[in-house]
Amino acid sequence: TEAHLEAIQGAGALNAFVHHTPEIALEQAKAADARIAQGDAPDMCGIPIGVKDLFCTKGVASQAASGILDGFKPEYESTITDKLFTAGAVMLGKLNMDEFAMGSSNETSVYGNAVNPWRAGNSDAALTPGGSSGGSASAVAANLCLGALGTDTGGSIRQPAAFTGITGIKPTYGRCSRWGVVAFASSLDQAGPMTRSVRDAAIFLGAMSGHDLKDSTSADLPVPDFEAMLTGDIKGQVIGIPREYRMDGMPEEIEALWRDGTEMLRDAGAEIRDISLPHTKYALPAYYVIAPAEASSNLARYDGVRFGHRAKLSQGDGITEMYEKTRAEGFGPEVQRRVMVGTYVLSAGFYDAYYNRARKVRTLIKKDFEDVFAAGVDAILTPATPSSAFELGAMTDADPIQMYLNDVFTVTVNLAGLPGIAVPAGQDKRGLPMGLQLIGKPWEEGSLLNVAQCLE
Ligand code: GLN
Repeated sequence: TEAHLEAIQGAGALNAFVHHTPEIALEQAKAADARIAQGDAPDMCGIPIGVKDLFCTKGVASQAASGILDGFKPEYESTITDKLFTAGAVMLGKLNMDEFAMGSSNETSVYGNAVNPWRAGNSDAALTPGGSSGGSASAVAANLCLGALGTDTGGSIRQPAAFTGITGIKPTYGRCSRWGVVAFASSLDQAGPMTRSVRDAAIFLGAMSGHDLKDSTSADLPVPDFEAMLTGDIKGQVIGIPREYRMDGMPEEIEALWRDGTEMLRDAGAEIRDISLPHTKYALPAYYVIAPAEASSNLARYDGVRFGHRAKLSQGDGITEMYEKTRAEGFGPEVQRRVMVGTYVLSAGFYDAYYNRARKVRTLIKKDFEDVFAAGVDAILTPATPSSAFELGAMTDADPIQMYLNDVFTVTVNLAGLPGIAVPAGQDKRGLPMGLQLIGKPWEEGSLLNVAQCLE
């Protein structure tokens, strides 16, 4: 813990940790020492981790990287952090992210962007660590913690993992409790671990999973020993290669990565099968209707009354002006855009044309996956992202849709509620990491991790 706290001190330029909690860390580490001395130490005992700022941590600033939650210190602990602390994990601090987890580059954060520890070739240009869990990815990749909590609504664990050369898994929807995790799009949000190896991810995921009476969407299912399922044996497993993910204009490096990954799994004894997921091309538009719709509803609670920031009012201002000024000051431009899009697609007259249609598309996407799994496919291999990490600032003036295209390979998994994992699988010509994604059947994170380990 002390070594990690020191490393964090020396890595301020990465802007990964945005709230530091050394006192809590040292106290938890002492308690972990005592447990280890007594021989009562679960796997996570004494493991120093970082926590995405989206998680409510009792008495510690929890701002979702937003100005509107300025000064907010929850009275309660999220179920996931509570479980991890009970298992002996040590919290080093809170990690940078895109505001309310909306973004793919960590550039919408009120704290300024986190920075990717990698550089392209001889260039000094700072690269994005990806988003929205950019601080988590940067911290794990730079050895500032042994693992970090992320959340994934449309790719926010898997894309930053791919951009920084680490592993990140989004479990099945309902595997982990969302209680105490600031909501973005409740039907898509899931938390997951970001780590430097698949084995670490298996251990970390086991400690954070499980049913929670405080989240009615968390599943009442036993949590298997994920680590014990890492046998390395994938003989006879059927790996699907979906032809719709071979997109026009995909860089040759990403295609080569995908081919090499396919060969590695074939060499390990898997059967490779060409498959079709016909509704893939509608996933991104459906996601960018459903996610903002749910966000506009979830973010209605930030009204200047209950949490964080309240605008200074002028003589004669009433409650409406208070709401308007608070929300205009507190939310950044991307969050305001999502709230407006979401409100629009839910409004009378447009609801059927946009929101309801997107929900129907979502059902078709889910059915695409059910069909291939029913036909005997065990897991699906795709690239995690359409490119490697890009330069910070490169996309900020562009059309927001350019940024949304980053999520093209990841959003289908959230729409279908499936587990998805990104693993580092190679480097591009500039030496930057690239990741592959494996998509699994519901509740089969264990076998998914086992396949993923064959790509390490
Ligand atoms: N980049 C996507 C978005 O901006 C996904 C975000 C996420 O998974 N939290 O919505």
